[in-house]
Amino acid sequence: MAFAPCIGLEVHVELDTESKMFCQCRNEFGAAPNSRCCPVCLGLPGSLPVPNRKAVEYVIRTGLALDCQVAERCRFARKNYFYPDLPKNFQISQYDEPLTYGGHFHLQVNGQQKRIRIRRAHLEEDTGKNIHLPDGRSLVDYNRCGIPLMEIVTEPDFSSPEECRVYLTELRAILRYIEVSTANMEEGVMRAEPTVNLIDSDTGEATPMVEIKNLNSIKSVYEAVKYEIQRHWRCLESGEEMYQETRLWDEQNSLTATMRRKESADDYMYFPEPDLVPLVPEHEWIEEIRASLPELPSALRQRLVERYELPEYGAEVITADRDTAVYYEQIVEAGADPKAASNWLMGDVMGYLNEQSLEIADLKVAPEQLAELLALIESNTISGKIAKDVFVKMAETGQSAQEVVKAEGLQQISDESELGRLVDEAIAKNPKAVEDFKSGKERALGAMVGYIMGQTRGQANPQLVNQMLREKLGQM
Ligand code: ZN
Ligand code: MN
Repeated sequence: MAFAPCIGLEVHVELDTESKMFCQCRNEFGAAPNSRCCPVCLGLPGSLPVPNRKAVEYVIRTGLALDCQVAERCRFARKNYFYPDLPKNFQISQYDEPLTYGGHFHLQVNGQQKRIRIRRAHLEEDTGKNIHLPDGRSLVDYNRCGIPLMEIVTEPDFSSPEECRVYLTELRAILRYIEVSTANMEEGVMRAEPTVNLIDSDTGEATPMVEIKNLNSIKSVYEAVKYEIQRHWRCLESGEEMYQETRLWDEQNSLTATMRRKESADDYMYFPEPDLVPLVPEHEWIEEIRASLPELPSALRQRLVERYELPEYGAEVITADRDTAVYYEQIVEAGADPKAASNWLMGDVMGYLNEQSLEIADLKVAPEQLAELLALIESNTISGKIAKDVFVKMAETGQSAQEVVKAEGLQQISDESELGRLVDEAIAKNPKAVEDFKSGKERALGAMVGYIMGQTRGQANPQLVNQMLREKLGQM
């Protein structure tokens, strides 16, 4: 059998606009239930929608970033279905005339390039939220109703869960770079729905396509897709019947389960939205949006690798978030060595941010201040080890590296007469180590270095200490 996995991804993204898609209600997360609603988003009789220009702009922005065409003219469509979180009984969406379409995306997986076709990125509105209580009652919060929602659909071009993982990670970075969404999956701002089946490319034979609903993390997508591929293989081998259906991912038990047999587009009775005129984005406006696009993560990554000779992995970590990438370039522009800057950023800085649950924008240490700290290490004013403590002090107080070093008396001791005294003392107090060193045990030097570092609270210049000890011992 020549069956191979064939995976497509549909991603829903709430757009980061001030107001909702078709009314002036505020688009915000976490407000008191049903406090951000009006007759339009509640679908009360006689209310009329007015499209949000910013939301249209954001979808065009995303479409352009994904190399899509922007439609010269397109329409909204009604997708009809009844559900308690949808008070209008229909969702305003786009059907046969998406705002943007026909793009593509280059994936880098295990050193291999792969082209993923983007079928469309269209605009619709989000639904409300059902909350099911343990006692069996259900509540509905309509605040989310009518929030601008972008749907990005790929062709079924992925062939492994790993490719899905890389795509979603990169897509999330792009959405943040172009500032259309926080793309925060934990808050449900970005949700993914994979379609999975196996296709025999020789015979065209295929297992029924399965859609997995509303996954809220990249890890869930990876696990659910992996599970579903294996289930299809099992069914093919055992001859168990399969259906075209929608399945749910059960996080607890790591398996998918049937939710409903798949409805077709006909079931939604799509028709053009009669309350809205067609959208005709002006050519000039599209070009303005195109010109305002920032450097995208993949281009930035490549530039960091070429300009600063960063390893691929380091460039990936630094560009995962645009603010971090900007911060990095500012450290280097302030005169720091690119390699040292990336090491510090990925090590101590990110470690501190993680520990404190902070974003880089909240960091009290400006890039120029970090460059100053690195210069102090470079000039041997402080040791790399002490610099770590200095950095934490800087982050806590907002003081400069110089100020912290001065206030705490942390300057590295490179004064030869002072170190000379300590070298003599170290030798006098460690006769055994001296003996061992003289009989060829290199490692015995460590005891004497350690003694001096202890006496100076780590402030002695270690290279100098080493050198002076060796000289002195050589003369003995
Ligand atoms: Zn409203
Ligand atoms: Mn949708």
